[in-house]
Amino acid sequence: MKGLKNKNALITGGSSGIGQAIAIRLAQEGCNIAINYRSSPEGAEDTEEMAMQKACGDLENCGVKSLLVQGDVSQEEDIIRVVNTVVEKFGSLDILINNAGIQTECPSHEVTTADFDRVIGVNLRGAYLCARESIKHFLSQNIPGIIINISSVHEIIPRPMYVSYSISKGGMENLTKTLALEYANRGIRVNAIAPGATITPINQDWVDDPQKKAVVESHIPMGRAGTSEEMAAAVAFLASDEAAYITGQTLFIDGGLTLYADFREAWSA
Ligand code: NAP
Repeated sequence: MKGLKNKNALITGGSSGIGQAIAIRLAQEGCNIAINYRSSPEGAEDTEEMAMQKACGDLENCGVKSLLVQGDVSQEEDIIRVVNTVVEKFGSLDILINNAGIQTECPSHEVTTADFDRVIGVNLRGAYLCARESIKHFLSQNIPGIIINISSVHEIIPRPMYVSYSISKGGMENLTKTLALEYANRGIRVNAIAPGATITPINQDWVDDPQKKAVVESHIPMGRAGTSEEMAAAVAFLASDEAAYITGQTLFIDGGLTLYADFREAWSA
């Protein structure tokens, strides 16, 4: 896709699932990729290996660079270190993918303050702090930077038992719009994708259970869960020059999940 070759991209939570697929796809498009991980260096190494294989094939050096950077996005000092490391090793940062995310299931009246803070701290505060540090760099170097937030259909669909997750993704909508508006005249674009049910380790609970999977898929108008590669394709598009006039938007990639599947057949007449 236009404009991605030789760009430097940082992907938070690049050791698994959607973040892994994004890192691989961006490398395939010619980006240098910094793969952030928190607890799984093996996952990050797998990402790096697959990304370099896709980008370079059997060529020893095809010009695409990769970097593994450990860091917890809920910790401000980690974020500053991660962004500085990327700038130091690659020379600059052009694209931030705010992908790291967690969720916990619990009735809303029983959620502990610590659990609530943990989810918001990673999904929303972490995304903001990564954006803040990246924007400082974009502005100081006059870089037309790009930020893509990995939100969720729960940006707009309330999700009982996952109150902190729902709040974090609802907040992400306004994070995307506020930053997009504030920095549009500096050439910085900020967008989000909102995946529906996607086959990744976060959904291990139903992905590996055919009966549970069938229940999940029965709620999706297109009749199937999405793949990480389908999410990564949309991210590549939004990061590319093909999307040069798009900012402040959330692109829902959900097989129709946000189309109110219960209205497929008339039930009100
Ligand atoms: P996943 O497979 O569980 O991967 C989560 C990633 O986030 C891992 O790489 C993990 O790193 C990283 N991470 C977690 N906490 C972190 C922290 N504090 N600092 C840095 N990295 C951290 O999940 P996924 O399904 O790919 O989800 C990725 C994003 O997509 C999330 O934001 C999620 O909300 C969103 N999403 C997913 C779905 C879905 O159905 N899968 C749907 C909508 C939205 P380590 O493993 O190294 O700890």
